[in-house]
Amino acid sequence: MSTTVLIGGFWHESDTFNPMEATPFSFDWVDGQDIFSWLSADGSQNELAGVVAELSQHGVVVEPTLAVSAPVAGPIPDEVFVRYLKSLSEPLRRLRGTKLDGVIFGLHGSSTVSGHPDAQLEVVQLLRTYVGNDIPMVVTFDLHASPSPELQKAVDGIVAYHTAPHRDMVSTGQRAARLFLRLASLPTKPTLISLTIPLLLPGEFGQTDMAPMHQIMAQVLRLSHLDDAVLEASLLQGYPWADNPHAMVNLIVVARGASSALIETLETIARSIFSVRQRLYRSVPVLSVAEAMDFVVHRDPRILLYLCDSGDNPTAGALEDRVDLLEAAIHGQIRGFVFAPIVAPLTVALAKSHLGSTLSVSLGGQLADVGPRVDVDATVVGRFDNDELGGDTLILNIRGNLVVATTRRVPMHSPKWLDDLGIDPKDPANVFVLKSGYLFPDYQDLLTSVDPAISFLVATSGASSLDLNTFSYQRVPRPIYPLDDSGHWSLTLTITHGGHIEQMTPIVL
Ligand SMILES: [Zn+2]
Repeated sequence: MSTTVLIGGFWHESDTFNPMEATPFSFDWVDGQDIFSWLSADGSQNELAGVVAELSQHGVVVEPTLAVSAPVAGPIPDEVFVRYLKSLSEPLRRLRGTKLDGVIFGLHGSSTVSGHPDAQLEVVQLLRTYVGNDIPMVVTFDLHASPSPELQKAVDGIVAYHTAPHRDMVSTGQRAARLFLRLASLPTKPTLISLTIPLLLPGEFGQTDMAPMHQIMAQVLRLSHLDDAVLEASLLQGYPWADNPHAMVNLIVVARGASSALIETLETIARSIFSVRQRLYRSVPVLSVAEAMDFVVHRDPRILLYLCDSGDNPTAGALEDRVDLLEAAIHGQIRGFVFAPIVAPLTVALAKSHLGSTLSVSLGGQLADVGPRVDVDATVVGRFDNDELGGDTLILNIRGNLVVATTRRVPMHSPKWLDDLGIDPKDPANVFVLKSGYLFPDYQDLLTSVDPAISFLVATSGASSLDLNTFSYQRVPRPIYPLDDSGHWSLTLTITHGGHIEQMTPIVL
């Protein structure tokens, strides 16, 4: 008799320090069989693509339900989530009476919904209502997931990305499918063991190709070789731009039992992560705004230079409408920057019909009225109507700097966008200011292909600021690094098995 696995997903990374809720129309809805065509086109890098590929190799029948995702933004509106749960119920109801052998569900792991304290748990609970507690349920997570112990309790397997920047989404799906196959062959439910570490970590300081995170991740990957009871191991780096009680770093394994030797090994890794917390925060160079401007003034003009406006990074949840670095450039009378982009729908609407003309504009804080504003003369030197990424987009020359002014938020995934706008992303005559945290792989590849080239993070303000002390957290457990310098630090060991929390113990550090 064939094996049948239900799949679906709900992905959103929600920044609770972003004052705007995510826009309902930014969510992509794919349901039923359309999920397969989506996975072979736009969704080809989604973890479900790996799940489907691996399961079909083993002759497993896949039942698709509903897959919904949106770019990182502020919290998800209640109406979107309620509609999601209702829509997910429909295929689940239809499948009642069908023999299901398992569920593999894609979750981001750091979704926040207004009015729902643990939305991802609600998704899992809804699935359990229909499929019961007996069949294995595996969830996949982003590396920046921050699940609650109740969510850990409700599933049989957690499998997260191992890389940042993320390159292993498909192989994460394959791991999830292989974990399901192993769980399906076990006579008993597995045990999930997690150790939460009192550490909030911006993703920029957890890049897995850099020390010390590279070495930490290598230890995590070795776990399944060291102890054959370990079926899966992940290090969730958490998500510090949400005031979520589970936002911290969390080491989590799926195992056949929780031997004291395994717990000791996990505790050793967790302690070592906490002990290098300051090194993690120093693992990449970060310039202040003043240092960045000084570097630009004194730079060697042959060097291709990229600066990342890390506090206003849309792929970490920020608004992308801030002008902190533009303001500093104007103030310092520095020329040659390309600001890519600054979201400014009011300016675009005002200046759109003035190609070639100079007019006075106001930029900054156009989405949520937060942050500085500059009032300045701008010459409209480029116009792109309904650009695929930016919507209506203008190129403005402001005091010898180019500003790409868009009507929509643009994730800085690929330099091809700059090329399409007629700006050469390899031209060292420009200093590129990207609304980005760490550079995405395509930009990293571009910088590797140009010699000499260099990039820096700039510690700007905004809803993805690297200075976590600028946020007023109410819900994270204290003490926690870097909000606190010292205190009674402790790990929390949580062991769950078959829908129960078996142990939840603090371990003094
Ligand atoms: Zn992530």
